[in-house]
Amino acid sequence: MATPLAPVCNVVGAGLAGLAAAWALSRAGMRVRLFEAAAHAGGRCRSLPDQRFGTAIDNGSHLLFSGNHAALEFLRGIGAPSIGLTPRDGTEFLDLADNARWRIVPGGESALWMLGSGLKVPGVGRVCMLREGIRLLTAKPGERVGERVPTHGTAWRRFWKPFLSAVFNADPASVSAPHAADVLRALAMDGAAGGRPLQAARPWSEIVAEPALHHLRERGVDIRLGSPLLALDRGEGRVRRLVFRKGSVDSADEAVILAIPNAVAHRLCPDAVPEIPSAPIVNLHYQTDIDQGLGFCGIVGGIADWVFWRGGVVSATIAGGGPDLDPDALAATVWAEARRVLPKSVAALPPSWHRIVEKRATSAATPEAFRLRPKTVTAHPNLFLAGDWTDTGLPSTIECAVRSGFTAAQAVVAAAKA
Ligand SMILES: Cc1cc2nc3c(=O)[nH]c(=O)nc-3n(C[C@H](O)[C@H](O)[C@H](O)COP(=O)(O)OP(=O)(O)OC[C@H]3O[C@@H](n4cnc5c(N)ncnc54)[C@H](O)[C@@H]3O)c2cc1C
Repeated sequence: MATPLAPVCNVVGAGLAGLAAAWALSRAGMRVRLFEAAAHAGGRCRSLPDQRFGTAIDNGSHLLFSGNHAALEFLRGIGAPSIGLTPRDGTEFLDLADNARWRIVPGGESALWMLGSGLKVPGVGRVCMLREGIRLLTAKPGERVGERVPTHGTAWRRFWKPFLSAVFNADPASVSAPHAADVLRALAMDGAAGGRPLQAARPWSEIVAEPALHHLRERGVDIRLGSPLLALDRGEGRVRRLVFRKGSVDSADEAVILAIPNAVAHRLCPDAVPEIPSAPIVNLHYQTDIDQGLGFCGIVGGIADWVFWRGGVVSATIAGGGPDLDPDALAATVWAEARRVLPKSVAALPPSWHRIVEKRATSAATPEAFRLRPKTVTAHPNLFLAGDWTDTGLPSTIECAVRSGFTAAQAVVAAAKA
């Protein structure tokens, strides 16, 4: 007979998935140890001090949406939301080719808002949007967006391409069409309740990682930063021991949640974790001496996909990594694009900048990549998986990571009770 699990869980990885799992487990009355390789929590959603800028900058400009229910529940739970997420009415866009500007403002009680003024993109007729939307919503498993929606024309350039590359950080034509349809359905049905962007008014570490660590410590979670997991010893169908750089933990009677990046989990446990292809994101942060307030804008037809501003820091996001340009040339070109959307005018020469390349920012979003994603529960009764690369059905986002953490915590609690 299998040995029952003690009400103790070792969570490895303190990104959003691991933090959310640790929070849910501690609320369920489990004893939790949380191990993290880095000296800080937050993983791919973190801030780093920049001495030249005199402030912390985010590795990337993360947006949440009002419909990200799991993420918001977690932020409320750790006492964080009042300190920095600012709801915006909608999303502005600029087409660099002809200076056309428009705004997408989700609204209404039903999907009909999409046919009203909330989704009025210059040069795109309502009938065209409706026809293409229906084609996407009726996609079959295995199909790609490019097989359902024409990948040319104004609707593609000004709506489908920016929308899909923002959500999936992937070549939009290759994205799994049913997954894109799920996101579109949620946006259409929830309108303003689900589709309002929430922009961080402070560095992300102050909004999530630091309050989460503080809250978890207060709940008695044993947090061990600077503790990379080096190996898992497995035997008799269980994870028997976790080997960290400093010391090890006998885990035969305890649960283990691996909430580490897919590439690391695959290296440590190749039979339980398939390798999932990933895509990069490049961020360029510029320090100006002009306070721009808080805002962001989508860019069509440029290298940058998004420009965010917070105080004097202007940040451009290049989804998928962008062209292979010399960093100085890239910084100058992207600055020229950013200047066109900033509320206050700035000098033509780029100010001091900082480039952050996240090589494995998100998991690929093709039908094949979604099929590879593993479930939370593994063949080992005490080993569970969490992270934005597990099978939540969502693109690799904060919401996906938090939801995966909640799912893993639920599975652990159920296993401990059983
Ligand atoms: C530049 C950028 C922009 C983004 N923009 C958005 C956005 O606008 N909206 C959105 O919702 N999402 C966005 N995302 C995606 C979002 O950040 C991720 O989906 C989410 O943070 C992933 O969380 P995670 O916990 O699954 O993984 P991670 O954040 O990768 O957490 C894994 C943790 O495990 C740790 N670890 C690694 N190896 C070990 C080891 N051996 N032992 C112990 N610990 C280990 C890592 O240090 C890390 O802290 C963006 C991502 C990037 C990179």
